Amino acid sequence: MEEKTLSKLNERIDDLVEDIAEKPARTKKEKPNLKESIYSFQPEQLQDWLKANGEKAFRAAQIFEWLYIKRVKTFEEMSNLPKGLRDKLEVNFALTTLKTIIQQESKDGTIKFLFELQDGYAIETVLMRHEYGNSVCVTTQVGCRIGCTFCASTLGGLKRHLLAGEIVEQVVKVQQSLDELGERVSHIVIMGIGEPFDNYDAMMNFLKVVNHNKGLNIGARHITVSTSGIVPKIYQFADEQLQINFAVSLHAPNQEARQKLMPIARAYKLDELMEAVRYYTKKTGRRVSFEYGLMSGENDSVEVAEELSALIKGIKCHVNLIPVNYVPERDYIRTSRSKIFAFEKTLKKNGINVTIRREQGSDIDAACGQLRAKEREEETR
Ligand code: SF4
Repeated sequence: MEEKTLSKLNERIDDLVEDIAEKPARTKKEKPNLKESIYSFQPEQLQDWLKANGEKAFRAAQIFEWLYIKRVKTFEEMSNLPKGLRDKLEVNFALTTLKTIIQQESKDGTIKFLFELQDGYAIETVLMRHEYGNSVCVTTQVGCRIGCTFCASTLGGLKRHLLAGEIVEQVVKVQQSLDELGERVSHIVIMGIGEPFDNYDAMMNFLKVVNHNKGLNIGARHITVSTSGIVPKIYQFADEQLQINFAVSLHAPNQEARQKLMPIARAYKLDELMEAVRYYTKKTGRRVSFEYGLMSGENDSVEVAEELSALIKGIKCHVNLIPVNYVPERDYIRTSRSKIFAFEKTLKKNGINVTIRREQGSDIDAACGQLRAKEREEETR
């Protein structure tokens, strides 16, 4: 897509945020003074840093092995590096920045982690067990400025973007906990707290590190990124031509209803979103997943299912129906089982590919942002 058109589209998110957020996000200039995480680096970037600091480039491969194969927790343990280099790494980078504050385990094996960051903020990361493997749901921001009305993660607005390394470290931490069981993280979903496309560069760097064959080596087709609909970033992402799975949180089949649930729809109208999605499927040849949270009396009738079918007809897609968990801070009530099945049946009848997301971790604080909201009231007010 043309750069001029893209930058015009980009401006709209900031206008919207000023409009909906009483507590605006820190700008890039006000970035907190954090020590850079060593996990932010791709091997080639680490080689450049080493060369610029008078070290041999081949050390990058050794460091990567310590980080992602042996998964050490201190620079001191990197025993085949000269002491001088270990000291330099210690001075310039952080290795372990996430402190586990809470680890909640569900009967179905789902584990929810509450991690504390270098500057004291808290984030959530979730490990989900599936028949096909272990999937980690990562967070990309402390809080979120998008303001979806059904979401606890947005309470209190956006505090700051995560560094790429802080996103990578979430996966490493979960992998370290699986090491004791001899298991591996096989899938990643970027659907935790935050809007990944609002922290685009860090998210892209994260993808390159976890996908790298010298890093965690998690296949692109095993990674899914989901957006609430930041249209210019969808064009940008399509142009990256990656094999990463792509999902859009849709939640309503018309402008009026979507705008009520998701203020982002005021900045990027539904028809613009659908145009961007069509561009994505055409450019990449890949299908898109539409995430659709069902809320009783809001968006769960058979008529709405008919409207949704008409909206996405002809798009190479799949619909993921998500019975929305009750969030105490919001008014939405869970859709009944019979209504969920009626909604699914209507989509199927219209030839739409659809699944109902299996509920996981229902006996713990399962909804995104719930655990953080409960434990860190001061951050989420
Ligand atoms: S659903 Fe996602 S984009 Fe919307 S407020 Fe929550 S974290 Fe942000």
